[in-house]
Amino acid sequence: MIDLETLVRPNIRKLKPYHSAREDFEEGLLLDANENSLGTPTQKLDGLNRYPSPQQHQLRSKIAQFRGVNPKNVFVGNGSDEAIDLLFRIFCQPGCDRVITTPPTYGMYRVSAGIHDINVDEVRLDSDFQLQVDTITDCATDRTKLLFLCSPNNPTGNVLDQEKVDQLIREFPGIVVIDEAYIDFSEQESYAQMVTRHDNLVVLQTMSKSFGLAGIRLGVAFASKPIIDYLMKVKAPYNINTLTSHAALEAFRHLETIRQKISEIKKLRSELRNALDRLPLVQHIYDSEANFLLVRMTDAKKVYQQLADQEIIIRYRGDEPGCENCLRISVGTRQENKTLINALKKLSL
Ligand code: PMP
Repeated sequence: MIDLETLVRPNIRKLKPYHSAREDFEEGLLLDANENSLGTPTQKLDGLNRYPSPQQHQLRSKIAQFRGVNPKNVFVGNGSDEAIDLLFRIFCQPGCDRVITTPPTYGMYRVSAGIHDINVDEVRLDSDFQLQVDTITDCATDRTKLLFLCSPNNPTGNVLDQEKVDQLIREFPGIVVIDEAYIDFSEQESYAQMVTRHDNLVVLQTMSKSFGLAGIRLGVAFASKPIIDYLMKVKAPYNINTLTSHAALEAFRHLETIRQKISEIKKLRSELRNALDRLPLVQHIYDSEANFLLVRMTDAKKVYQQLADQEIIIRYRGDEPGCENCLRISVGTRQENKTLINALKKLSL
């Protein structure tokens, strides 16, 4: 058990949030929010003269139903990057608090820490890209507020060992954030439903990957009600725009197609893996439960550059600890993967 209130910054605890007009009434003769009563410039944009719902009840309920949780355990943000940013705002006192990350991992945790002037302690994943639990708990000080875990991990693609994650949820003295951006491509179960049992757990997901909606910017955080209440308190009043919530709700009417695409991506991932495996310049392909592969090559920088010269863009990850000479390749369509493989065959290294 943690004492949430002692982890939250005192100014956030005391904060009186902005009260937006649309919180009380969404229908009726609406002369309360200084919107343009004469409407949008074209009928195609009908309805957008009104501010969006600040509490996003419909969207949060839909997501909750889909993930088997209660809507009061769901926060929606402008990408999961917004949720990451808000966690820093809620828990981390600039200039004195600390967070722990486990590289190689998603770079935004460090960037967000930098924006908020928060110290980052890095506890590297081991040679199998798994957590070093004791080193992490030893590293936590009384100023350490957040621990970022990513499973499946970006850029390595593997899932984190569940027993170690469970141990950290039990033993870490701050908030454990599990970023599950790629969970739908994996065989591992989500931790989303665990948030009611652990009041120090935040699970992040996104519609950018498995739902194929990176353009709408919709991220989700699952957490205990008190943490969700803090996220709702510090977010911008209208952080999810009307177009985004319409698009997301529409996507939930096409779950079967989404499921089919997820299984197609998994199939393409294994085809791409097999094709890469036959190339002499490929030294190792890491197991992936995401929609990308981490691949170790002989001279990855050259490969990256020569592909970029042909406008085939992948990600160089060789500067990440434990990822020397590694490239991260997103799974493309069958044709895109074929083009990539043919280009790799023709490289002059
Ligand atoms: N988490 C991880 C692990 C990611 O790889 C990414 C995107 N690269 C994100 C979060 C960002 O998600 P969103 O588009 O919802 O901001």
